[in-house]
Amino acid sequence: MARPLSCPTCGRPIEWSEAFPFRPFCSERCRLIDLGAWFSGERAIPGEPLGDPDAAPETASGGSRQGREDDGEDPERGDKVN
Ligand SMILES: [Zn+2]
Repeated sequence: MARPLSCPTCGRPIEWSEAFPFRPFCSERCRLIDLGAWFSGERAIPGEPLGDPDAAPETASGGSRQGREDDGEDPERGDKVN
């Protein structure tokens, strides 16, 4: 007694038995094709698309940013005693 099954790749009817070692696929070829489809994205799981990594959240909080000002002191012109 075998359940009616069909190869997910080619739709060929198979049996859930030792006659089909690559079940639920009819053959190793169909199994590899199915795996290849997964990897190539043809069978991507439908769902929410990933967020756009480029879309950075804009921070509108305006804070007084202290500008770092250098005095511009020349280290060479230190205490030079002649
Ligand atoms: Zn097949």
